[in-house]
Amino acid sequence: MRATTSAGLLLAGLAACLGAALATRNPAPPARPPLGQAPQTPFQTSIDRSVTEPLAAHRAPEHTGAIAFDHVRTLVGFGPRYPGLDPSAPPATAGDEPAPPTSTPPRPPTPGWSQQLGYIEQVLQQHGLTVRRDTWTDRRERITFTNLMAAIPGPRKERIVLACHHDTKCTIGHAEADRNFHFVGANDGASAVGLILALVPALQALELEATIELVFFDGEESLDWAWNDAARALFGSKRFVKRHRDALLLGEEPRIHAAVLLDMVGRTDLHIQEELYSTTRLRQLLWSAAVATGHQQQFFQRAEAASDDHKPFLDVGIPGVDLIDLNGNPHWHKVTDTLENVSAASLQKVADVVLTLLPAIDREYVIAPK
Ligand SMILES: [Zn+2]
Repeated sequence: MRATTSAGLLLAGLAACLGAALATRNPAPPARPPLGQAPQTPFQTSIDRSVTEPLAAHRAPEHTGAIAFDHVRTLVGFGPRYPGLDPSAPPATAGDEPAPPTSTPPRPPTPGWSQQLGYIEQVLQQHGLTVRRDTWTDRRERITFTNLMAAIPGPRKERIVLACHHDTKCTIGHAEADRNFHFVGANDGASAVGLILALVPALQALELEATIELVFFDGEESLDWAWNDAARALFGSKRFVKRHRDALLLGEEPRIHAAVLLDMVGRTDLHIQEELYSTTRLRQLLWSAAVATGHQQQFFQRAEAASDDHKPFLDVGIPGVDLIDLNGNPHWHKVTDTLENVSAASLQKVADVVLTLLPAIDREYVIAPK
């Protein structure tokens, strides 16, 4: 794998400290889209930050960040939250890949993974939402994954997806000693889950035309220590998009017009990079939302592509944008990704930006698509 070329926004001297860790998350776009049909999103350059849309700033309710932080504290308290082979999972169905013969026992799911699913479900239900679970077992990997979904209905059934991943990186069983440690993923995992849960009342009050589909993906993290999104990462989002495409073709599911992904959005020293795979127009709207809310210092000061759960959407032609704090993040996949390095203030800022961005997407992609 190689690092993609960083855009001109990179501040002088930063390039050297991007490091090999970031390169692992920045593979070159594949020659062929994995799901076929739509063209691979071309590798983009940075937007012109002097150009902004005059968006109306939408402030999140005062305690949104604090409520999100409380959720993060609860999730971190569950400990590591990665999936494993769940003996109670549904049996293999026709068409499932047979498990390859192996002498290695499958890893069990962590107790925290199960507890977290129950917690997300419970909070969403408290807000009156109906939660759908999609549970499946990947026979090759011998891992049972679960995506959770809940819709905030609008007048239209067509959807804007607001998503995150709930799994945490598995940091046991690696050959290298420094890759085995207690990892709770306060930012990488819990922050975006906590923020989406905290945002539900504000999302319900937004009254978009579109239905907002909240999705909590499983299996985002690479099973290999190094990023391997071609085969061993993004399990939940690949599954979700494939099922959506099948259902759309059969007329069984309304269209998804855009996907907004949150990943690592709570770091105390928050910096949401301009993620270069993301759809250019959505990056422009995101930057405009950051400017409108006065949070531009925490956004787009650096630019780099990062493969993430928005990629399967992009690969089939669904516009997507990733709010991710990966570039220059010293706690990424480190033992220091703990509650101490997450803040309610950062979560509050991202909440403002998301609530400002979504109505703009609703207008441009759902109400009056160009
Ligand atoms: Zn991660």
